[in-house]
Amino acid sequence: MQMAFTLDDLPVYPHMALPDGYTPHSVATQIIGAFARNGVSGVFALANSWPLDIEPTYERILDDWVAAGHHIGNHTHTHPLLNETSAEDFIHDISVADELLAPWINKAPLRAFRHPLELWGNTEEKRVRVNEHIERLAYRSAGVTSWFYEWEWDRAWRHLLQTGRSEEAERLKTDFVEYAAAQVAHDAAVCKSVFGREIVGIGLIHPVAFFTEVADAFFASLFADGVAFVSLAEALDDPAYVRSGSFVSDAFEVYQIKVAAADGRALDAVPPTHKALIERVFELGAPLRPPRRGMLVQNKRQRAT
Ligand SMILES: [Zn+2]
Repeated sequence: MQMAFTLDDLPVYPHMALPDGYTPHSVATQIIGAFARNGVSGVFALANSWPLDIEPTYERILDDWVAAGHHIGNHTHTHPLLNETSAEDFIHDISVADELLAPWINKAPLRAFRHPLELWGNTEEKRVRVNEHIERLAYRSAGVTSWFYEWEWDRAWRHLLQTGRSEEAERLKTDFVEYAAAQVAHDAAVCKSVFGREIVGIGLIHPVAFFTEVADAFFASLFADGVAFVSLAEALDDPAYVRSGSFVSDAFEVYQIKVAAADGRALDAVPPTHKALIERVFELGAPLRPPRRGMLVQNKRQRAT
């Protein structure tokens, strides 16, 4: 199957403490290296700009990303969740990121935007106003058909390491790679059921330390299953994405699951064969899970009154 590969929350994954020996720079460098070793090119990182406000050296991460042949898109300034944010504040946040990330976004072959947690608007007013703003700034909204909960695997892995359970921590890596292949196959099957044909998928990974540990095995496993990576532009040209952002939803779900739900079908987001494993990973990571997702820094760039 064909899939565009994307990464969210560069240059710093929100809330995510890094284990000893890792920095936001080293995580990005290792991911760039894994892409190079595995021939994965032109990857869009949907970026947040808040880190640039607190640490100017994070700009280097974006520079390195683009220098390696990858691209930057807009994922808002402070990562607000649209379910709990007004259209006005959300729109402002997009514009702040548009301004701060312009040096990198302007080098990309496509102006890509992704809503935090893929929340398109839980009211019609928000959905429409935010979509209008995205269009006004000439962005194309990039959906997601495959994500892997690697932020939860990362928490589980760090918790096991912190509590001296290193063998279990090591086993999580092989479990993840095996699960990820099953997730991709499951997502492809659900897409086929929802759209009536095979579509170009869009995969998503975050810059967490755990992913750097498994990246090579992850790509090898997907390649062995026949996954071919294509550009985000190619994926977004698939007419299947025409319904992206086209209806009100408050669900934190991948694209095809949301579309199915809008059509009255409740489909499994995780392969049923791996549901128990994913539940265990969530349980293991619980001690390190932050109380909430989304905005984590006060927006220093308030709207002019
Ligand atoms: Zn995000």
